[in-house]
Parts: sequence; C-alpha cells; structure tokens
Amino acid sequence: MKKTGFEEMWPGITLALIIAAQTLVAAQTLVSAQAISAAEPAADVGTPPPSPLRFIDTSIENASPAWWEVAGDGTIRIHLTYDHERSSPNRANGHWLFRVDAEPGTDLVLSLGPFGNIWNGRPAGPVPEATISFISDDGETWRVIKAEPDEPSRLKLRVHMNGPSLYVARLEPYTVSRLEQFKSHIVFSSMAATESIGKTADGRDLDLIVIGQRDAPHRVFIRARAHAWEPGGNWVVEGLVRRLLRDDEPARKCLASYCLFVVPMANKDGVARGRTRFNMKGRDLNRNWDQPADPATAPENAAIEAWLDSLRKANRLPDLAIDFHNDADGKLHVGVPEIDDGTKAAYLRNMKRLETLLREKTWFTEGSTSSSFRNPGTIGEGLLARYGIHAFIHELNANWIGGLNDYPSSKHWQTYGEQFADVLLAYFEEQ
Ligand SMILES: [Zn+2]
Repeated sequence: MKKTGFEEMWPGITLALIIAAQTLVAAQTLVSAQAISAAEPAADVGTPPPSPLRFIDTSIENASPAWWEVAGDGTIRIHLTYDHERSSPNRANGHWLFRVDAEPGTDLVLSLGPFGNIWNGRPAGPVPEATISFISDDGETWRVIKAEPDEPSRLKLRVHMNGPSLYVARLEPYTVSRLEQFKSHIVFSSMAATESIGKTADGRDLDLIVIGQRDAPHRVFIRARAHAWEPGGNWVVEGLVRRLLRDDEPARKCLASYCLFVVPMANKDGVARGRTRFNMKGRDLNRNWDQPADPATAPENAAIEAWLDSLRKANRLPDLAIDFHNDADGKLHVGVPEIDDGTKAAYLRNMKRLETLLREKTWFTEGSTSSSFRNPGTIGEGLLARYGIHAFIHELNANWIGGLNDYPSSKHWQTYGEQFADVLLAYFEEQ
C-alpha cells in the first residue's frame, strides 16, 4: 500500500520535535550553568591539579576510610572518617592506613586529620597523641618517620616516594588475614586449639585461642584489640604463643603451670573495616563491664561473658586477665572498683608483684597508674568486681619504648610477648 504524504513525513516531524526539545533543555542547562558561574566562579574540575599524586588507595586490608584533595600549595590533605560512640558525643580518629600511589622519586607532604577527638565528653586536645608514623615500600617492612603537628587537630607527614607506591600507617598493621594465617600455623601443635565463642556485630567469628591444658593449675585470659587502631597486643600475643609452643624445657614448665586463653581480636569488625575505636554498633568494648553486656549492641562482650560464665560454672575461672591496648604512656592500669578490703589488698599486692616481674624479665619500665586511679566500666575493673579475676589493662606505648630506647615495632612487641611467658610462670610460682 502506498503511504500517504503525511505518513512519510511523520518520522521527520518527530525527529525535528526531539531536536527542538533537546535544544531547549541544552539552552536551559546553559542558563543555569551561567547563573552558577556568575554567582561563584568554579574551579576547572576537568584538569587534575599539578601533583605527583596519582591515587590514595584505601582498598587494602585494614585501610582507613578517607577522602583527599590536593591543596593549592601541593599538600595532600587526607580526611579520615571518625568513629562515633552510641548515645555519646564521643568520637575518635586515631587509625590511619592507606597506600599512596605517586611519581617515583618525588617528595610529598601529607596532612592527616581531623583529630579533634571527643573523649569522655571533652575535647581530647588539638593535636593527636601520635608523634610518629610508619611507612613501607612493600607493606611488609616498615620504618618510622616523625609526625609533625599541623594546623589545629591535624598531623603533617613528609614522605619520599622510593617507588610508585608507599604504604602509610599509624602502627605496623596487624590484619584479620594475619590472624587467620597465625591460627592456621599453630593448630598443628597438640598444645594449641582454636574455637569461636560467638559472633561480632557484623557476623564474624569471635576467636578464642587456647594454649596448653585446660585443667592446668592456673589460667590466664588475654584480650587484645578491643580498640581497632591498637595492634600492639596482637604482636605481643604472637610472641607469647610462639614461645609457649616451642616445645622446649622452659615452654613445658610454663604449660605445666598455666593454660593461656586468648581472645586476640575483640573488635574484629573494626579491624576489618579500618576503624579506630568503637564496634559497629557504636559501643566501646572497654566500657560498661560493670554490668552484663547488651548482646544487641555489644555482642563481642556478651560472648566473652557467656564464655566466662561457663568457666565459672566449671569452677575454672582465670586467675589473671590482661587486656592489651596502645596509648601514649604504656602504663599498667590498675583501677580498683568498690570491693571488700581483703580482695582489694590481695589484688593490689599481685599487681605490684607482676609489675616487679615485668621490670625484671622484660623491657617494661613504664610503671603503673597511681593508687587513686579509677576508670569505671573497663574490663579490668569489671572482671575484678563481677568475677573476682585479678585483671588489668596493659597499655603499650605507641610512640616510644623507654626500656629499649627505641620506637615501638612489631619485633619489639613480639619479643615482649616471648618474655611474658616467663613472667607468668614466676607470677604463679610465687603465689
Ligand atoms: Zn585502647
């Protein structure tokens, strides 16, 4: 059938209408763009700034969530993401880990922040407590650089690009993968066992490592990494466990005296996600230990309590509990909750004895908190008040090791763990 003239013309009319409509939209877009540029001259976002920087890679394991920009003077400003505490003004930034991809041979200035933390409801100082940072060309071998105070609440790092990539970290990273690898190595020993005692908020397994015989005369409970930015305890645990599994005479003597129970990564989600302090529900896992944990918001603590309750039922509670952290002081936190005088005296006596043994047998020189020290709700005070376990917080100085006159490193912390085996043996022998 022959098409009418109109039918033949229709596609052409349609096309003309579409073009007219598109022209109108384009014209409107141009008008709005002109209105914006008239109000506020826009930078040319189509041209990359003149910088040797190619990328800040936060896809690596344990990397800190961040965004960045290159300032007019070439400084690379890296903006880290805060952790926020539930029902509290508290917010924390202290972890950083990322990989800088940039032109080899160039020097870069990195400005990190913000570090205007809120701590126990108060501003925690304009500059963070960090005086050093770690860098690495391969993500394996790390070296220390100075961290300079920058404008309020920021830190400046000056780095040189030996190659196309440079890893930058607050401390030598200890990742979830590293823990998995460590677990897979130690299970070959007949003296080691691993199990899951519950799930984290994200649904990860909460690990328990058991070294020795569960019916040994004494039991030690160690928790590490309740705060995600603080890897020191993980390195200490590795050193201690490896020492105990060496299958020599000193190790056999230790394991004849005590069994070691370790929850190596209490805030596993925070580590996996490169966060600083709180768990994924905004809970501080070293708070609220003066009451039963809320399984909905602090499942990691609820799991530890359920495990301790099972030990209590079997009359096998730990004699001693140590919670490893990092800070800028490295002291033993010996806080005494409201308990009867006899228990208090025995506890303080044991803590003093332990401090003496640490000074004798390790590089520890930092000492303990003063006799009036209190930090209610920490696991140390909570386990003492609610379970009768002689427990304390062991901070590890994240800037300097006085006893070695050196910067902290994974190597020094592992050595400390190895030395700790003998400290524990002597602690129980003297009892
Ligand atoms: Zn901590």
